[in-house]
Amino acid sequence: MQAPSVGGVMLPRGGGETIRLSRGASLTDFAEKIGANPASLVAVMMNLGEMVTATQSVSDETLTLLGDEMNYQVQIVSPEEEDRELLESFSIEFGENEGGEEMLVSRPPVVTVMGHVDHGKTRLLDAIRKTNVVAGEAGGITQHIGAYQVATEVNGEERAITFIDTPGHEAFTAMRARGAKSTDIAILVVAANDGVMPQTIEALNHAKAADVPIVVAVNKIDVEGADPTKVRGQLTEFGLVAEEYGGDTMFVDISAKQGLNIDSLLEAVVLTADASLDLRANAEQDAQGIAIEAHLDRGRGAVATVLVQRGTLRVGDTMVAGDAYGRVRAMLDDKGQNVEEAGPSTPVLVLGLTNVPGAGDNFLVVDEDRTARQIAEKRAARERNAAFAKRTRRVSLEDLDKVLKAGLVQDLNIIIKGDASGSVEALESSLLQLDVGEEVEIRVLHRGVGAVTESDINLATGSDAIVIGFNVRAEGRATQMAEREGVDVRYYSVIYQAIEEIEAALKGMLKPEYEEVELGTAEIREIYRSSKLGNIAGVLIRSGEVKRNTKARLIRDGKVIAEDLTIQGLRRFKDDVTEIREGYEGGINLGNFNDIKIDDVIATYEMREKPRG
Ligand code: GDP
Repeated sequence: MQAPSVGGVMLPRGGGETIRLSRGASLTDFAEKIGANPASLVAVMMNLGEMVTATQSVSDETLTLLGDEMNYQVQIVSPEEEDRELLESFSIEFGENEGGEEMLVSRPPVVTVMGHVDHGKTRLLDAIRKTNVVAGEAGGITQHIGAYQVATEVNGEERAITFIDTPGHEAFTAMRARGAKSTDIAILVVAANDGVMPQTIEALNHAKAADVPIVVAVNKIDVEGADPTKVRGQLTEFGLVAEEYGGDTMFVDISAKQGLNIDSLLEAVVLTADASLDLRANAEQDAQGIAIEAHLDRGRGAVATVLVQRGTLRVGDTMVAGDAYGRVRAMLDDKGQNVEEAGPSTPVLVLGLTNVPGAGDNFLVVDEDRTARQIAEKRAARERNAAFAKRTRRVSLEDLDKVLKAGLVQDLNIIIKGDASGSVEALESSLLQLDVGEEVEIRVLHRGVGAVTESDINLATGSDAIVIGFNVRAEGRATQMAEREGVDVRYYSVIYQAIEEIEAALKGMLKPEYEEVELGTAEIREIYRSSKLGNIAGVLIRSGEVKRNTKARLIRDGKVIAEDLTIQGLRRFKDDVTEIREGYEGGINLGNFNDIKIDDVIATYEMREKPRG
């Protein structure tokens, strides 16, 4: 084979050696590894049809492509792996219990409460906190530190349970997206008068994706019209079959308001843990765990609630949490009392860190202050680099066949959001019927009606999924989040088109020429009627910028109402302008299209040619 040459200059070709690069590395990093000039690699990429600058962070695929061209075996190191290697360089192993079986003692389960809004998650967490029967404790007023522990009697034995005190699955998935596993068991709260609702399903899909057993709390049984049996029936469809119907999920009918059956619920949690999980940890090693919540307190400095997962954390220990470090100056439990030590599954508030760790960051105790500082500094440096990087797509339809061939993924995980349950189900069942060969499996992790939300992106990030929006768009900061996390979000308005693309992607035939790039969104605040121009939308630009003559679509309540519109007129006060930026107000005229309402969103976009991978 010819060595690649650029402008007659031969490039150093490898002999098939392996080089290791961090996810999100740049051509300069690559050049450094092989002793080449970065500019020459830019030229090589250009010959391959990709325009990248030397310092820009590139995707895994680009690095691999360049590796193939230069005859190097490229190994991409994930951030998790890198962190493990960093700790290993200090002879620290994170995540494993030290010693053998004989060192393990049982630890309480850690529980997250999830469910649809208003079904009583917060009320339940309050009710449980009140049943706190930890023996011999004066029962001070519970402080909100992000988690608390209660005790309950099961078969004559006192058993503790730890609750993460932020209801909802957002925190849960956000942590999972960062690779942290905080929860052993999920309590799914379903109001008996309301039944299974969209977020019920979302929550249960999140729990399933994380492989966390579920206990169902059928709440509000005190309310008239409550129908706990119906809830059991509804959940059967989602694979949660009640024990009394021969399944293995425990359902407990409760009233969070009246404090009814809270004990039975706690018992069900313990029994489920005993039946399906082996919750044991070494209580004697240096403490390790995760940060659940943290903030900067005016008087006390950085304050972090950590959940000890193994070992025992003591006042005076030197710890690293994410890129924060320090010596534990004091620890407070969930009753605001000073404690000297905290064992496995115990949440404590820690004072003494240099700065604030992120929720989901791991923490560990090390022997020397110097080690703690070095680990924290290396992590901070990496975070900074990664912040420039990101934009690496995790799994995208374009490179799916490559990823599949390389054995990097076996499944295509999909999240489907649509405008109506009928279309979502139709799309799902057609996708599941696709003949995609034996090695690949299509898994629909979550489906639901409504806009693509931040929660969907979190789930996609944690599970390497792609997101399909069928006649709906992204909501809130979901688009930015997807960009940042490199999640492939696809929008369709015709079912067969979605099916075709996915089938083509699986077969490696997808070669799109153009991609849609969102330019900006405008919220309609007022409507002016003009006899000459028709309706004019008085808008506030919510994100990006809106430009004249670009394409637009109209979105109402997260649903696409009209496609293929054009921003024909754009005004600021009395002046015609070519663009208006985020935060500014203006007037938009959509030509002949007049069906606009207050609160509608005009989303503008542009078709850009896509670099081929
Ligand atoms: P969340 O959004 O899931 O956290 O729901 P909340 O805990 O805020 O509860 C929503 C509303 O339902 C509140 O007004 C609660 O007082 C009420 N609620 C919660 N549990 C019960 C219950 O068991 N019975 C009755 N009647 N109302 C309840």
